Amino acid sequence: MAIELLGKSTEELRALAASWGEPAYRGDQIYHALYSERLFDFARMTNLPAALREKLSAEGRITMPRIARRYHSADGSVRYLLALESDATLPALARVQVEAVFMPDTKEDARRQTICISTQAGCAVDCHFCLTAVLGLNRNLTAGEIVGQVLVALDDQREHLLPQTNVVLMGQGEPLLNFDAVMAAVRILLDPRGVGLAPRHVTLSTSGIVPGIERLAKETVRPKLAVSLNASNDEQRDAIMPINRKYPLAVLLDACRNFPLGPREFITFEYVLLGGFNDAPEDARRVAKLLANIPSKVNLIPWNPGDLPYKRPTQKSIDAFKQILLDKGVFAFVRISRGQDIMAACGQLALIESKGIEAKEGEILRSAQNDTL
Ligand code: SAH
Ligand code: SF4
Repeated sequence: MAIELLGKSTEELRALAASWGEPAYRGDQIYHALYSERLFDFARMTNLPAALREKLSAEGRITMPRIARRYHSADGSVRYLLALESDATLPALARVQVEAVFMPDTKEDARRQTICISTQAGCAVDCHFCLTAVLGLNRNLTAGEIVGQVLVALDDQREHLLPQTNVVLMGQGEPLLNFDAVMAAVRILLDPRGVGLAPRHVTLSTSGIVPGIERLAKETVRPKLAVSLNASNDEQRDAIMPINRKYPLAVLLDACRNFPLGPREFITFEYVLLGGFNDAPEDARRVAKLLANIPSKVNLIPWNPGDLPYKRPTQKSIDAFKQILLDKGVFAFVRISRGQDIMAACGQLALIESKGIEAKEGEILRSAQNDTL
């Protein structure tokens, strides 16, 4: 069976080259060609000797996620429905589809794009306000399938790329419940000889898997950490995020306090504002208290609609919540998710077909004064 190269580290590719009787540095060249030059076809790796290219074609494969569908948002973002078929021998269930979103910067001095990628097909965490939860967990993605989402989006958008690429692990799935594959992918993304992104430009968002946060704290090269807080006390968090019963706020925030940060670094706390549920002034005051001794920044995300029993917050409650945090010295931003008209926004990635998207278009709320994600 052909050997899958996508997702392999330099060390693994060096070992592969050596096992074929080639000098180990050929592994480094393949690594560079694949992740830095984005050559997904062995025939184009012309710095390799012809015999090695033939060997690679005969015994290796590079299985990029296949773009099954593109959805274009009025705001310029593109949602990709990706078919992952890295191993054709896998049972049909293992050949899954996930979503990734490409978001070009729309500001006048635009200089970056952000790519949102999935780490699992579906998710087992079961947050009640999130459409991905409705899918349940299908399976973990491999390192190749995770890094492949970034590569396929960069390749597809190659005519439109700006100098800086940000990656957010905020698509389908809970990254810290697929730790090894996620970290293998992140190392390739952050390696200057690999995809070459800056650590401050890659953000991993977790629902609060404490053992995963503790493991991440020990990594030498780390992405930025974002934690989905979403509630101002345990009772409220228990009601919308069952994971809170396992890792309650005190334990979660302790893990955050112990997370190593550089001098100007902070942890981002995401707070999905659910109208009438967690968006009251006393919630804002409690959030400020909870985060008082953690270098933090709060991203307030007005709930994105889906077929779930929640409401968007009013603009008045959004503004008031933000103001209370600012008054208490907490950096707070309102994040209006991109691509709501194509169901590409936070919590909307659930393989919904275009019919569903059209039905939702009327509900979309926009607010020019808010920052975009
Ligand atoms: N599983 C990880 C990362 C993916 S979810 C996590 O939960 O952090 C990314 C973000 O989207 C999380 O902060 C989550 O709370 C938020 N989210 C989920 N559903 C949402 C919705 N319908 N509207 C707005 N944000 C949502
Ligand atoms: Fe999973 Fe994150 Fe959605 Fe919760 S919010 S169900 S952890 S994807």
